[in-house]
Formats: sequence, C-alpha cells, structure tokens
Amino acid sequence: MLAHSEQWCPNCQGYRLCERVGPNHVLHLLVSLVTAGAWLLVWLGVGIACQSRPWVCRTCGNFVEMGRFDVPPLAAVVIICSFLIICLCLVGILTRPYIPPPGHLPSSHTIPHLAR
Ligand SMILES: [Zn+2]
Repeated sequence: MLAHSEQWCPNCQGYRLCERVGPNHVLHLLVSLVTAGAWLLVWLGVGIACQSRPWVCRTCGNFVEMGRFDVPPLAAVVIICSFLIICLCLVGILTRPYIPPPGHLPSSHTIPHLAR
C-alpha cells in the first residue's frame, strides 16, 4: 500500500505530495488473527522496514528524503504492547499447574486405559 505525505522537494523547490510503499495493515491484522498473534513480529519488522524507505516526489519522481524514525509510530507501539501481553498470557497459561477440582480426582474407574 502507498503512504502519502507532503514533503519539501529540493528539485521542485516546494512542498509536494510524496509517496512511499507502506505495509498493508489490514492484511497483516488478518494474518495475525489467524496465526494467534505469531505474525505480529513479522508485521513489526515490515513496519520498521517501511519507515526507513525514502519518500518519492509525485511531481518529479525525485527521492525527497530518506525515511527515518522521527517518532515511533503508534502502530509499532500498539504491536509491541500486544505482543508482550500475548506472551505474558501464554507464559501464564503454560506454567499454570493443573489442579483438579474437588470430587473430580482421576481414578481407575474414570480412566479406561488404567482399569485392569
Ligand atoms: Zn519534486
């Protein structure tokens, strides 16, 4: 997807509408949902890579300015926080010991392969 911004073009000597390739956030969101959040790291990497691409003037086609991380984009902050929350939840779920509820203790009568 193309992102647009108004940047100073030294070739045109004025502010011009510029564009650069950006990530398709809708597609990345769908893939992240399908992969239960595992795709978030890829999305983050693609987002950072796209931030470092140069803007291209739509009037003259000149590279206007090398892209840089002026301010961390809100999307990257949201993605990092979401990933950390998902990791914490997974760690909590995976490290929780199984405690059977009272009266539901497994016995040889309820587990067929143990009954001999
Ligand atoms: Zn230009």
